[in-house]
Amino acid sequence: MREETALRSELVAICRKLERKGLIASADGNVSCRVGADRLLITPSGKPKTDLEPRDLIGVNALGERVSGHGRPSSEIHMHLAVYAQRSDVSAIVHAHPPLLTAMTLAGQPFRADILPEVWLTVGTVPTAPYATPSTSEVPDSIAPFIADHHAILLERHGSLTFGRTLGEAYRRLEILEHAAHTLFYALLIGGCPPPAMPDKDREKLDQVRKKLFA
Ligand SMILES: [Zn+2]
Repeated sequence: MREETALRSELVAICRKLERKGLIASADGNVSCRVGADRLLITPSGKPKTDLEPRDLIGVNALGERVSGHGRPSSEIHMHLAVYAQRSDVSAIVHAHPPLLTAMTLAGQPFRADILPEVWLTVGTVPTAPYATPSTSEVPDSIAPFIADHHAILLERHGSLTFGRTLGEAYRRLEILEHAAHTLFYALLIGGCPPPAMPDKDREKLDQVRKKLFA
């Protein structure tokens, strides 16, 4: 595990990128990473992400109780804890409000992971968790069935949750998905109908590539 000072800087840099790239507005969203066996760093509640400094991050234990820092941890802390509890391979989580991915959930459209090779290779299928009241225990309950077998989950009427072995991986998955959503949207406008899925044989080849690259 990388040194805490470096992780704090990287986490804050990702928060700024989220705002700059239009993936959140102001204090929206939350980002966390593991910094020990039973300790996390997470963004504080209510602070605009562009104003965050590394010292503003809150240290919490596996129960979500603050063990360092000032202020309150993100109100979605229990959504993060639910992922870490099920996935020992996950060390970082990014929750954002990406406009196009969120719009797809408003339109009742499932995310199509089987169209673009980059998505199939790096993220895989992306389920949509049913609507849950933000900041309540409804949210961890709504995502619980999807955590074990996915790297990303869309939250109906709310946003996205991407996770990874590193902060960079969790963030990249978000960028890849929102970028893919734009591409699919253009394909629909240009072609007038949803684009076809990649044939099974092409997806199987990508599965082999994934095994080689990420084993
Ligand atoms: Zn949110």
